[in-house]
Formats: sequence, structure tokens, C-alpha cells
Amino acid sequence: MTPTPAVLSVPARPVSDPCGPGYISSLTVADAGRPRRLVLLGATGSIGVSTLKVAAEHPESYRIVGLAGAVNVTLLAEQAAAFRPPVLAVLTGERAAALARLLPAGYRPDILVGPAGYAAMAAMAEADLVVSAIVGAAGLLPTLAAVAAGKIVALANKESLVLAGDLIRTAAAGSGAVILPVDSEHNALFQALGGAALPDLPLVERLVLTASGGPFRATSRAGLEAVTPAMALNHPNWSMGPKISVDSATLMNKGLEVIEACRLYGLPVAQVDVVVHPQSIVHSLVQLHDGSLLAHLGPPDMRVAIAYCLGYPRRLSLSVPRVDLVKLASLTFEAPREEDFPCLGLARQALGSGASHTVALNAANEVAVDLFLKERLAFMDIPAAIAAALDAHSGETLADADAVMDLDVRVRREVADWARAR
Ligand code: NAD
Ligand code: MG
Repeated sequence: MTPTPAVLSVPARPVSDPCGPGYISSLTVADAGRPRRLVLLGATGSIGVSTLKVAAEHPESYRIVGLAGAVNVTLLAEQAAAFRPPVLAVLTGERAAALARLLPAGYRPDILVGPAGYAAMAAMAEADLVVSAIVGAAGLLPTLAAVAAGKIVALANKESLVLAGDLIRTAAAGSGAVILPVDSEHNALFQALGGAALPDLPLVERLVLTASGGPFRATSRAGLEAVTPAMALNHPNWSMGPKISVDSATLMNKGLEVIEACRLYGLPVAQVDVVVHPQSIVHSLVQLHDGSLLAHLGPPDMRVAIAYCLGYPRRLSLSVPRVDLVKLASLTFEAPREEDFPCLGLARQALGSGASHTVALNAANEVAVDLFLKERLAFMDIPAAIAAALDAHSGETLADADAVMDLDVRVRREVADWARAR
């Protein structure tokens, strides 16, 4: 297959910020004149399930050519039976055998296994667009494989940009891959800027990311000390996987998103603000030099952002609930409580310190969230673990993805030791 015609040009203006030049540039994606062929990494997760709902609303426009999950083979088998992709992928050989047993008679897709299998699926010649929706650092290598193969990449896995923004940018510049942001805030910025963003960027004064504030927006500091996993998983507006739900509760999700915005748009951290907006209707805003604010509004449903990426540059119709402004009556905004939610400041600190610091930040967060969910760390130990990891990290040069993953593993080990010693 010839690669999907796609152009992503890195901006020529000099950028001295550690974020480097952004990815989202004058961006055109030609219509191939046939159904778009999709690979879905993280098919069994919250974003994966929402993506298949969008595709199912437009069966004439999409063909699913690859579905990847980790361990939930029952759901993956159901999805595979419904969409019949020629290739599936799971985490282990044991899961692959279990999956094969669950598939309908007469349907025998190839089943790929493990990280190498995910990367092979992400790069497969039959795919036009890859939805990157694996959670955490495990999403990096398949995302890089899709980018290196010149795919249109609908990027939900924000951790890839936090871990390896430079590597992704370099790979995209080399391959012509187009990165479309699925994360609702970055998708909102992309929509507010009319898709082809960077020609207008000199006019941008700041980006304003909205945050719901999570379930503990109004919880006292003493109350935060007593938060349980069940409380943290109960997000007021969004239905998401467990890791990002905890990240939303600590505000680390917004911290990761500040890094994501800087790396997508090539703006310094000082030009990216965060404002708490509890209704989650305004998904983010762009402030221009004339004082204008361009915003994207919509229901708090990830299908809107996913559909924008799947259809880009066309728009798809979608059967999501409509926002009833009269019923809502008011949209409110407030400053984040940064002292009580230190993760946001820690993310900014890591971003300002250098690329390897954001790897340390992410690894420490993933371990701390996991231990919190297993009730081995308290909620407020999460920022403490990250702060300790950043303090211990003196910075290093990361030449390639192996170096990134090696640092990720080392920091995970250090944070696990830190937690055991507590
Ligand atoms: P989730 O936990 O619901 O799903 C995660 C998916 O990744 C599952 O399919 C799981 O099988 C797969 N997975 C987990 N570990 C894996 C591994 N080691 N190797 C391969 N696959 C693995 O998570 P989610 O909420 O769908 O989030 C997915 C990504 O999208 C995250 O990076 C998250 O930050 C981002 N995101 C999610 C939302 C949302 O609303 N859920 C919004 C914005 C961004
Ligand atoms: Mg988001």
C-alpha cells in the first residue's frame, strides 16, 4: 500500500523552549475516496469502546483492520466478532490461545502477541489511521511504530508525548505521519484553531486548558488525606479508565495535559494556563493577541473528540446527547487549588527541568497510582512519591526509545522501593 497522503510540516520559527517546536502544523489529510482502515490499540478500554461506537455509526466510512487489547479477551472477542478485523493482538500467548477459543467458527484472524505484536499492528500496511489508546507508558512503542510508518495517528495516549515528545516529532517529520489529538482539551484547541493550527500560532497569546476539578474539587485538605480508591474512581462528569480517573482526581491528568499541549503546539509552559470548569462543557480555549477567546463547547463525551479525529478533515454526525444551555443555566470557572493538588505544579516543574524529568514524573505517577489503587499508598502519597522521584533525578540524555523505557523501568523500581520504605 502507498502511505496515506498526509503532510505535517514542522514550523520554521526558532523555539528556545524545552518543549521544542510543536507537531501540529499546517496539516492536510487527503480523502482516500474509500473507507478509512482503522487500527485500534487499547480497543477494550474506555476510549477503545467509544471509538468502536463512533465507527459503528458510520459503517460505510470505516473498516476495522486491527484490534488490540491486553487481558480482557472476552470483550476483545465480542468486538472482533462484530467488526471482523483480519488482525488481533493481546499481551501474552496464553491470552492469545484463550481469545482464539472465543472467536466464532469460520473467522480466523492473525493474533499477534505482546509489545512487538502491538508495534507490528500499529505499522501494518493495511492501516490508514491508528487510534493510540493504550494506557500509560506501554503505549509509547506502538505509538512510535505508527508514527514511523507514516500513519494518521489519533493520539489518546498522552503519556507518549510526556515520555518522548522529541522522538515522536522527529519520527513524524521523517515519515509524514499526522498526529491528531484525541484528548478532549487538545482536540478542543485543535478545533478552535480550525484544525490547521500553526499558521495562526503567532497570533496565539495563550492556551487555556479546562479541568473539571475532579471528584475532590471542593474537598478540604484533611478530607484529601482520607480519600479511598472507590472515591477517586467516581468522577463527576467523565467515564474513564481507572488510571486516568485517579490522575483526574490528583490533577496530574491536567499536569500531563500541560506537557502534552506544550509539545503538540510548541509553546512554552508559561503560555499554557489551567482553569477549573466543573461543568466540563467548555473543553478548552485559545486566547489571541486581540483579546479574543476561541472556545470549543460540547457534551462531556469522548466520542465527539474521537469522531473529529476519525473523520478529519471531514466532520461526522454523531448521536451524543446535545448540550442544553438553558438547563445548564451557568458555566463557572475558578483557579485550581495548586497547594492542595501539588501534581499540577510537579508536572510544570518536570517540563521546565528537561525531557528526562517528564519520564521520571510519568513513571513515578504510574507506580504511585497503581499502589494507591491497591491500597498500599494513601492518596496524598501520590504527589509525595512523584516529588521524591523528581528530587532524586538529576537529568540524562535520552537518545532513543530504548533509553526512555530504560529510565522508565529504573524510576519505577526506585518509587516501589520508596513506597516499601514508608
Ligand atoms: P482504560 O484503562 O479504560 O483502557 C486501557 C486500554 O489499554 C485497554 O484496552 C487495555 O487492555 C490496554 N492496555 C493496558 N495495559 C496494556 C499493556 N501493557 N499493553 C497493551 N495494552 C494495554 O484507559 P482509557 O481511559 O481508555 O485511556 C486510554 C488512554 O487514553 C490513556 O492514555 C488516557 O490518558 C487517554 N485518555 C483517556 C480519556 C478517557 O476519557 N478515557 C480521555 C483522554 C485521554
Ligand atoms: Mg483530557
